[in-house]
Amino acid sequence: MFLQQRGKDLSDLQIQYIKGVGPQRAKLLSRLGIKTVKDALYYLPHRYEDRSNLKKISDLRYGNVETVSGRVISAEVKRLTGRNLKIFELTVSDGSGLLKGKWFNQPFMKKNFRVGQEVMLCGTVKKTYSGIGFEMDNPEYEITSDDGDLLIHTNRVVPVYRVTSGLSVRQIRSIMFNLINTCIKDVYDPIPVEILRKNGLPGLSESLSQVHFPDTGIDIGFLNRGVSEFHRRLSFDELFMLELGLAVMKRGSVLEKGIAFNPEGRLLKRLIDMLPFRLTKAQEKVFTEILMDMKRPHPMNRLIQGDVGCGKTVIALMAMTVAAECGYQSALMVPTEILAEQHYINIHSVVEDLGLKICLLTGSKKERPLGEIASGEINIVVGTHALIQEGVMFKNLGLVVIDEQHRFGVKQRALLRKKAIDPDVLVMTATPIPRTLALTLYGDLDYSFIDELPPNRRPVETLLFSPGQKEAIYRFIREEIKEGRQVYVVYPVIEESEKTDLRSAIRGKAAFEKSFPEFRVGLIHGRIKAQEREEIMASFKRGELDLLVCTTVIEVGVDVPNATLMLIIHAERFGLAQLHQLRGRVGRGAHRSYCSLIAYEPHREEARRRLDIMVRSNDGFRIAEEDLNIRGPGEFFGTRQSGMPDLKIANIVRDARLLNKARREAFSLIDRDPDLKGFPLLRKSLEAFWEGKVELFKTG
Ligand code: ADP
Ligand code: MG
Repeated sequence: MFLQQRGKDLSDLQIQYIKGVGPQRAKLLSRLGIKTVKDALYYLPHRYEDRSNLKKISDLRYGNVETVSGRVISAEVKRLTGRNLKIFELTVSDGSGLLKGKWFNQPFMKKNFRVGQEVMLCGTVKKTYSGIGFEMDNPEYEITSDDGDLLIHTNRVVPVYRVTSGLSVRQIRSIMFNLINTCIKDVYDPIPVEILRKNGLPGLSESLSQVHFPDTGIDIGFLNRGVSEFHRRLSFDELFMLELGLAVMKRGSVLEKGIAFNPEGRLLKRLIDMLPFRLTKAQEKVFTEILMDMKRPHPMNRLIQGDVGCGKTVIALMAMTVAAECGYQSALMVPTEILAEQHYINIHSVVEDLGLKICLLTGSKKERPLGEIASGEINIVVGTHALIQEGVMFKNLGLVVIDEQHRFGVKQRALLRKKAIDPDVLVMTATPIPRTLALTLYGDLDYSFIDELPPNRRPVETLLFSPGQKEAIYRFIREEIKEGRQVYVVYPVIEESEKTDLRSAIRGKAAFEKSFPEFRVGLIHGRIKAQEREEIMASFKRGELDLLVCTTVIEVGVDVPNATLMLIIHAERFGLAQLHQLRGRVGRGAHRSYCSLIAYEPHREEARRRLDIMVRSNDGFRIAEEDLNIRGPGEFFGTRQSGMPDLKIANIVRDARLLNKARREAFSLIDRDPDLKGFPLLRKSLEAFWEGKVELFKTG
């Protein structure tokens, strides 16, 4: 946030010049990302300890996390006989009993302690081997007899900060204490006071001071979960700045001039007549929304969400056909070259049948028909996101379709806007996002939702296997193929390598050919040329192959209703979204379908949870929610790449309700005062928040 000190920005005030810091410590602090006073004030404790009434050692309970204060009785390194393990043992007494702290294989810890010193230990209380007294493994510690200030370090709920070597938690705490006392009065609160009042939020300086040194009586559970009212205030600030930025962007694009497409509809009708299926109601509804956007004289900015297999590609195709009919070019962009090729393979013949010209443009492709793109001869270009960065010249780019929102964020969208023209933009997510979150996070976009799958999709039964159940798996494959069905086997890598010991598609193919000489086995992966890949896919579709060994290239748009079994090898290696996407390739016909996940040990707890969710659910939105829980919002959304500012304090999952409030306030404020003329300091801190990501306000 924007903090002022007598007209001076606290983010310009170097931490070095604060009392008790100096050049040496400033260097250490910068390792923690603290360079200015503002950085320091926003360097929040990662947890809190209640030292307002310390437990006596004799009152400790096994299994509880406790903090104890006492005097060092002994400090020695012990060696476990027969094992190459050194244990540093610290014995502490507080007069009521003995407590042992143990650190494994850290003999250097010994030099930190002297007999007679006062220390505090915090950790989980365990029984000792002999049963007498208590111990803690790897407790956090603090040496309390070094320097004095009892008011800062004890007799209260104390903040615990992440440290760096050379700087103890006590030293950081003292610096913070001093900082709060000297600078907090100069903190300027940029959030309009009505908004604070309406939402019952405390002031900024009070909040900063309380999150560092909470008054007694504040629930320590709330503090530790980051949801005390003071934490919430700081979270609100971040969310408000986030939403305010989105509101400004949205407003900007609403006002901008764009293309008013005016299609006759003949080409579109031909496309619809050519489709081998009827559009679902949901597809029709969403396309109507798109068409309305396209006809308006402002740029479209629309997000299309829907579960895997709901049929987003055909919607994109329809929109691109409309653009072509009106004499405009379209670009279809995806995150990787393989995906681009796969999309091209899937749509080029339909497009060509319409009499339109389409080309694939990727970095590794040698002939690049740049001339034909520039002359307008080519109607549709399929490529990666690099399309917009490499300065490809279009004659008249009217529509940009972006598949896979997650890796294409506000930053890239802003880049598009900067190009001379203002094309309509359609964003399609490959991974569903919980609806309320999508609404608030992609607040600069309009939003359409395909809430229906094409008819005759059946829930896929998902089973988890261990490699030891090979016989059962083989029997399963044999039964399906004997019934006339087809099988996919997905591998994480094309070829074995020295770096990993993963099973590979190439080896897998050989193994299946050997085990099933009576079946026809095919192989497809990203190193096979696109044209050849297209032929292999076509022959699988015609039923000329029984079993297709593949990599994740088949994740996109592959549609073989007769394929009823998918085996995913090393399922523990795939992300949830990807597993769900892959599984969407089966369950497309009248027959019952299965997905068998084969997981190799050892795998982490997190992988286990992913696999469990896959077995339990077929619903992409449920799966996305769980994914969000497991990975946390930062990784889930890939915020850094997408150009969304990092959230340091708020957590969009935990603070979902606060996010909604922040959104409402932000959009209503921008409605009333689009340029924030009445709130110059808020505007300045907003720009600082988005700095280096997106330029919100046009300069001049
Ligand atoms: P996604 O939304 O996951 O990108 P796709 O666009 O790849 O889904 O569509 C999945 C498959 O469903 C494609 O093979 C497509 O041809 C088919 N499909 C799309 N719409 C319909 C429909 N209305 N009825 C039947 N099949 C459809
Ligand atoms: Mg798709």
